[in-house]
Amino acid sequence: MTSFISVVSPTGPGSSMCGYCGPPGGRSQSRSSHNTAGFVASQLSCEIYQKIIDRGWRRSGTYCYKPDLKRSCCPSYTIKLDILEFKPSKSQRKLINRWNRFVLRGNRIDDVTMDNADTSSKKGFSKAPPFSLVHSIHASESLFSDEKFARTFETTLERSVFTPEKYSLFERYQNEIHHDNDTTSSGFKRFLVESPLEYEPIPYTKRRPRHLPSHYGSYHQLYRVDGELIAMAVVDILPNCVSSVYFIYDKKWEKHSLGKLSALREACLANEMHDAGALGMNALYLAFYIHSCQKMRYKADYSPSYLVDPEEFTWHPMEACIPLLDKYRYACFTHPEHSLEGSRDPGPESGQPVPDDVLCEISIIDSMQDDGVVTVVPINSSTSWKRRDFREEVYSHINGLGVDLSKDIILSYSMII
Ligand SMILES: [Zn+2]
Repeated sequence: MTSFISVVSPTGPGSSMCGYCGPPGGRSQSRSSHNTAGFVASQLSCEIYQKIIDRGWRRSGTYCYKPDLKRSCCPSYTIKLDILEFKPSKSQRKLINRWNRFVLRGNRIDDVTMDNADTSSKKGFSKAPPFSLVHSIHASESLFSDEKFARTFETTLERSVFTPEKYSLFERYQNEIHHDNDTTSSGFKRFLVESPLEYEPIPYTKRRPRHLPSHYGSYHQLYRVDGELIAMAVVDILPNCVSSVYFIYDKKWEKHSLGKLSALREACLANEMHDAGALGMNALYLAFYIHSCQKMRYKADYSPSYLVDPEEFTWHPMEACIPLLDKYRYACFTHPEHSLEGSRDPGPESGQPVPDDVLCEISIIDSMQDDGVVTVVPINSSTSWKRRDFREEVYSHINGLGVDLSKDIILSYSMII
């Protein structure tokens, strides 16, 4: 068990309009996404959060939620790329080479050509060296080269904190990409800065190169060209993966496919961490894969990738999942016979009762004194337990996390800890 305590405040199941298949009123009747459970976390250990996302959860700021795949029009499956086996495709290699050429030679931003030339140096008749992801990713960064390039490209990985510069990028991103003119700095903080993850030292077994993080936790990776902030990735660095949370960029750099480049850079980061002896690190999580959304299918181009089964939470190779995803709205990989077509009855909701012997081992904060002493009691001894809505909320919480994980997370309904 981890030394960092995890404390969360369940919010129960919920639904919202689907952001992938457009506004309601279209052909389909149920254009909504459902969550089987959710909570606001005041603190989470990275080890616990790793287990949470391995059960199909995701976070937005400090709010964590588990989509209900059976009830959603666009089911979202957790996808991971095996970074130890990852071989970038030809087009992914081209993308990196094209970016490097741009930095080295300094073409105008919009002067982008997809030529087939390989930039790796070819001397005489000797063959070009095999493609190395780590080498190519760093080839144009000023930190990794003494050469003077036409442009100065730098990336920095820093803890997730607010700065006016980041907010200004977010404001432009929302205006120009999402046509949203109502951004606020508090909204930005809630969505992309706040995180419940505790920074915990990473047990590297070798000397850590300075550009790699020393702690697990939530980070911002900043992309700067000639000093100007052009993009920012929000990533969680966890014991077994780098998890992509979000990516924002300046629209005038759109042609460089920075979002795709950032996934390659994050795969590279995970790889370098593994090589430095963070041995549990073996994957890049690309958030959710949504088969019904064409724009999301590029995630399947990073190979070999795996989807988590929505019922058993085991990992399945993408190639094995695709035929089921093509055939069913809701696909279950371990039990294909559980898969559902169209709007077929998804069965009972998540608030199924949980046995007493399990409830006895789930703690809730009962009281907090001024001197910081916190008293916890078993959930079914708490004063709220007699309320039916409360019990149902707790049941969805336990069903969403599974019994073992629920026992490691303390519930709280007063967020001041
Ligand atoms: Zn949808």
